[in-house]
Amino acid sequence: MQIHHTIAATRAALADVGRIVFVPTMGNLHDGHIALMRQARAHGDCVVASIFVNRLQFRPGEDFEKYPRTLEPDCERLRTAGVDHLFAPDEQELYPVPQRYVIEPPAEHANILEGEIRPGHFRGVATVVMKLFSVVQPQAALFGKKDYQQFMVLSDMVREFSIPIEVIPGETVRADDGLALSSRNGYLSAQERAEAPNLFRVLSHVVDSVRKRRRDFAALEQEAVAELRGRGWVPDYVALRKKDDLQSPSAHDSGLVVLAAARLGSTRLIDNLEV
Ligand code: AMP
Repeated sequence: MQIHHTIAATRAALADVGRIVFVPTMGNLHDGHIALMRQARAHGDCVVASIFVNRLQFRPGEDFEKYPRTLEPDCERLRTAGVDHLFAPDEQELYPVPQRYVIEPPAEHANILEGEIRPGHFRGVATVVMKLFSVVQPQAALFGKKDYQQFMVLSDMVREFSIPIEVIPGETVRADDGLALSSRNGYLSAQERAEAPNLFRVLSHVVDSVRKRRRDFAALEQEAVAELRGRGWVPDYVALRKKDDLQSPSAHDSGLVVLAAARLGSTRLIDNLEV
């Protein structure tokens, strides 16, 4: 695997490598990331990963500073997964001047759910992904459904700007007990880690209920929030939404997804399940 820290070196190395499949990450790689890398292999000739903890998508007071940076073991994992190139710039390389030109996703996508709790988050995500696309110039890119709203924002961005990149979803990879893998799981104490799979369990219960024809979505959401609160979580939301645009469904809609974000101690976890 070739490791590049500059835009120029990355562009030079990728000038003539066939169909490029790109997997952007913030590092601290786990099996969810690695599953995306392996999936990428099936979609092209050259798999390119990036590792960059993107300040633009964090709000003041969030975990930008403490976000785990583990470049050496990450490189080892990427090598084992058969990744061909890694782009791992520092901030000075990607943002040599403050980034004034940004991608502003539409409010109906960016100001709901994660975007409501984390204003500006999707502007930061869309802006860095646009910039990474311009460096790597892939023909395809993979994003995990673990970050369901992010997937929607980025695939809509690509479509509306007519960017010639195929956007491919990756299924959420979970621990044996159901907890969705996340770099942030590393913040959990042993006790919190034991509690954490209940987020998945509560979402599974919502999915089962909808499959059994419950249509009182608001009540279902409130029950899920109450259950999490009772277990000591501080939920930001549990929301049943339409898969394609993440807007609220009416009782006869199908194609739903339930999304949740909740804090356990000082760790904020997100998860979702398609119905
Ligand atoms: P991150 O490093 O958190 O920015 O994630 C990089 C990519 O990996 C994103 O496309 C995420 O959606 C994806 N990802 C993160 N966790 C998982 C998981 N548990 N399963 C599948 N994909 C994931």
